[in-house]
Amino acid sequence: MGCHSRLVGCVGETLTMSIFERTQTSLILKCSCGSVEMKAFDAAITSAVCYCDTCQRGSRELAALPNASSVQDLDGGTAYVLYRADRVAYSKGGELLRSLKFDETATSRIYASCCNSAMVMEFDDARHWVCIYRARFQSDAPALEFRICTKFTLETAEIPNDVPGYAMYPLGLLVKLLEAKIAMIFSPRYASSEGLAKR
Ligand SMILES: [Zn+2]
Ligand SMILES: [Zn+2]
Repeated sequence: MGCHSRLVGCVGETLTMSIFERTQTSLILKCSCGSVEMKAFDAAITSAVCYCDTCQRGSRELAALPNASSVQDLDGGTAYVLYRADRVAYSKGGELLRSLKFDETATSRIYASCCNSAMVMEFDDARHWVCIYRARFQSDAPALEFRICTKFTLETAEIPNDVPGYAMYPLGLLVKLLEAKIAMIFSPRYASSEGLAKR
């Protein structure tokens, strides 16, 4: 038995405290009409605006659904909050979720069909993170840290310089994703069936 399971199995206080902390930091994210809810536990990996062609097209198509609100900024970027896939779970209205997919891409955009709110952008393969549309957060969204794939924007687009912008994927983002992967491997939750994690 490794030291990790000794900690969880024998030190009850530690376990209780970690559950308490998790409860403290879980967020409820709702579609705009409130019929679909998802829960996000603990801290996000990061928050980023993406300007890639696929995100631009996805956000345009989502906004074209009846009564949908746009999740795209005027400069063409779409803002996301990235979470470990095992830290996000649908808690209400899962049957209302629909998927928007283009043939040639390996991503799907999940929206709530009740009010056509964009919920999550996820990868078809078993990536360890999901991108929640930042529009689903209130004032509780983590601070924006990156503007990525800016080379896909129109030359006329004025991209804000509030956070660093990168032509493609910055090393700082890749490091955060790798750290999340390592933490997830050593997390008890990884072994459970909870969350959007695929395996
Ligand atoms: Zn709704
Ligand atoms: Zn993108």
